[in-house]
Amino acid sequence: MPNDAATPPSRPDRLHHDWHTRLSHAGRAGTHAHGFVNPAVHRGSTVLCPDIATRQAGGAKRLQQALVYGTLGTPTHWPLEDVIAEIEGGTRCQVVSTGVAAFTVPLLAFLATGDHLLMPDSVYGPARQFADHFLTRMNVATTYYDPMLDAAGLRALLRPNTKVLYLESPGSHTFEVQDVPALAAVARAHGAKVMIDNTWGLHFFQPFAHGVDVSIQALTKYAAGHSDLVLGAVVTNGDAEWERVRSTTLLLGQHASPDDCWLALRGTRTLAVRLDRQMQSGLTVARWLAARPEVKQVLHPALPSCPGHEFWRRDFSGACSLFGVVFRPEFSRPAVHAMVESLALFGIGASWGGFESLVLPTNGFITRTAGTGDFGGETVRLHIGLEEPADLIADLERGLGVMRAYVARGEDA
Ligand SMILES: *Cc1c(COP(=O)(O)O)cnc(C)c1O
Repeated sequence: MPNDAATPPSRPDRLHHDWHTRLSHAGRAGTHAHGFVNPAVHRGSTVLCPDIATRQAGGAKRLQQALVYGTLGTPTHWPLEDVIAEIEGGTRCQVVSTGVAAFTVPLLAFLATGDHLLMPDSVYGPARQFADHFLTRMNVATTYYDPMLDAAGLRALLRPNTKVLYLESPGSHTFEVQDVPALAAVARAHGAKVMIDNTWGLHFFQPFAHGVDVSIQALTKYAAGHSDLVLGAVVTNGDAEWERVRSTTLLLGQHASPDDCWLALRGTRTLAVRLDRQMQSGLTVARWLAARPEVKQVLHPALPSCPGHEFWRRDFSGACSLFGVVFRPEFSRPAVHAMVESLALFGIGASWGGFESLVLPTNGFITRTAGTGDFGGETVRLHIGLEEPADLIADLERGLGVMRAYVARGEDA
């Protein structure tokens, strides 16, 4: 039975094939699917065993890809886990119910009562809420640090009980790119685990080549790619980290729907081509916005105007199509909201990574406590989908006209 082995699936082609090729060949169903290219959706709880010895042998392999019980994974989960591990350059992946669970599980796996956690001020809102409203009840203290912190700055924040350095690069909504290798090296020397929310970086940032221990993915975004499911993944690169993550997942009763895993696996087959196009379209729109008189700053990691752009250049092989725009201070919040509501091709909504473009006002909606994240103007976040960029630009041009007219009428005076 393929994959029912104690050793991680080997990926001999990793170094030899381009990732477009690997996405077509990684995590294939093998003999599970009776010769069909794709795996079946295995929905199930009970796994029947031919005898008691088989049942006991299965139970002993709970931490592996073994057919024991529905909550422990199925031949529908495994191919997706193999593809995600492949994308991130790790050895093992655990799929979980949501992107939120993809950070709550490893935080609970590596933190205990009395520990200290470091989180960037730019962290995804629900991760901050988990630290503030749940980890505090475990007597875990969190310090929010400036995402642009350097190694010396990090050393000054470390405490004897600092057990996890959490990174999110680029940061949610404001896109600061962090000096991951420098920060990870300091944390590791201190004996702390290094975790990164790599949802934006995906394949373009290889976390384990930059000193990270645990990588977090909201598969909800580009991996799924069609705005039709929620799912998360935790990827590790060492046996000790794997066993902690895997056993914590099982103890918490985390489970990912087989139907959603099947859809997400299907999404990964076109991930590279979607990202190729979305990267180019995102850059086209971001560069057009950067040249507009209404725009103060574009927060796109691949443009020099983004904090940490030098780290993006050094550490990333590409960019996805999510970025921020800061408007000049004369454009008030109501004026920016009028622009947002006037757009025809951009939906107003959370999440990203689908085939469709989105817009979301960000300041006023984000929490910062370390004094970072004020760019001196109203901000919006754009997600560029698979539409023709010229159509998106025409829509934005009309929208900027609405914003200028709003201010000219003095409606917000
Ligand atoms: C969306 C998102 C998550 C959470 O994913 P869900 O599947 O919506 O729970 C986590 N991290 C980042 C950076 C995200 O954008």
